[in-house]
Amino acid sequence: MQIKSKLPNVGTTIFTVMSALATEYKAVNLGQGFPDYPMSEELTAKVAEAMKNGHNQYAPMPGLIGLRESLAEKVEFLYKTKVNPDTEITITPGGTYAIYSSLTTILQPGDEVILFEPAYDSYIPNIEINGAKAVPLPLTYPDYKIDWDLVRASITIKTKAILINSPHNPTGSVLDQNDIAELKNTVAGTDIFIVSDEVYEHLIYDGLPHESMLKHPDLFARSFVNFSFGKTYHCTGWKLGYCIAPAAFTKEFRKVHQFNCFSCFTPAQVALAEYLKNKDAYLSLPRFMQQKRDYFIELMKQTKFDLLNTSGSYFVCASYGRISDESDKDLAIRLSKEAGVATIPLSAFYHNHKDDKVVRFCFSKQNKTLQQAVERLIKI
Ligand code: PMP
Ligand code: GLN
Repeated sequence: MQIKSKLPNVGTTIFTVMSALATEYKAVNLGQGFPDYPMSEELTAKVAEAMKNGHNQYAPMPGLIGLRESLAEKVEFLYKTKVNPDTEITITPGGTYAIYSSLTTILQPGDEVILFEPAYDSYIPNIEINGAKAVPLPLTYPDYKIDWDLVRASITIKTKAILINSPHNPTGSVLDQNDIAELKNTVAGTDIFIVSDEVYEHLIYDGLPHESMLKHPDLFARSFVNFSFGKTYHCTGWKLGYCIAPAAFTKEFRKVHQFNCFSCFTPAQVALAEYLKNKDAYLSLPRFMQQKRDYFIELMKQTKFDLLNTSGSYFVCASYGRISDESDKDLAIRLSKEAGVATIPLSAFYHNHKDDKVVRFCFSKQNKTLQQAVERLIKI
């Protein structure tokens, strides 16, 4: 028997490929984005306590109400917007799932979704599996900004949504107030939804503010805004996130969610409901991660990689024209095997595997890991 593939053009995700290579060649893994330092002991203790206290059965389908209430308080504190925890927040098994579910909630076959490349590698398959068409637009090189004239020129009657990611993976570019004004102007008077990927909301540097869709009532009214606890609390393996969307959208989102996952890991929700009240745990994040970014940038000056700007996320991209003219994929494989450092080739984030000869480094690592990686990269 043969399966007619729903995703005929998709192989194994680059993150799995590069992490497997890192393990095989004992490379320092600056490829897949995850921290290698411990998370908060207070938070893990709270999860253990929740288990001991018997919170081990299904959580309610939309998520524990205490957690949703804490999130609504956080949103009001950060973005001065009131969201209803009962009808506008849904806890999900990770940010990727929240984005997939947002798209599945709104897309009909033949719809078009505008997104920006380089793009996180789940977006296009998430669109295509719903029978919709991805319309990837290039971000400008090398500052990776959105070309709003191109966005306006690419809108058709089939455009159902614009997918936005700020701070941006893989480039670390961020939306500024001008982008928000352009976005408002572009969607005004249309029925275009916004699917916003804000998993790096706290990983933003140089004092820049995070321009959340939640800050702008006219944008929020057409948005699904998606987050990940993994990024905020250094626990990517928990795969826990949430989607905030207006009540009518959330009602449909939950129809998709309830027959896919139904509900998420209860003990972590009990723990996070309380831990979220500690504002310092997230307010200290930009400074904490900026130090890592700056430390890595300084170390990398000893190498022949030319780092591009990054204002957010876990990542910094680097062009390697002074090292070689091989493809970014070949270089990334060679770096893992010969230099012992895993990276991600940027072509993996383009539908047509466009190769600008750029690789991505993840700096959410212990200083000693970054140091060890750079000692190896100097030799290249
Ligand atoms: N969007 C982007 C841009 C990401 O980098 C990640 C991190 N993997 C996610 C979404 C999803 O995070 P999660 O691990 O919670 O699914
Ligand atoms: N978001 C992380 C990255 O971009 C990991 C994603 C994944 O492994 N699926 O590297």
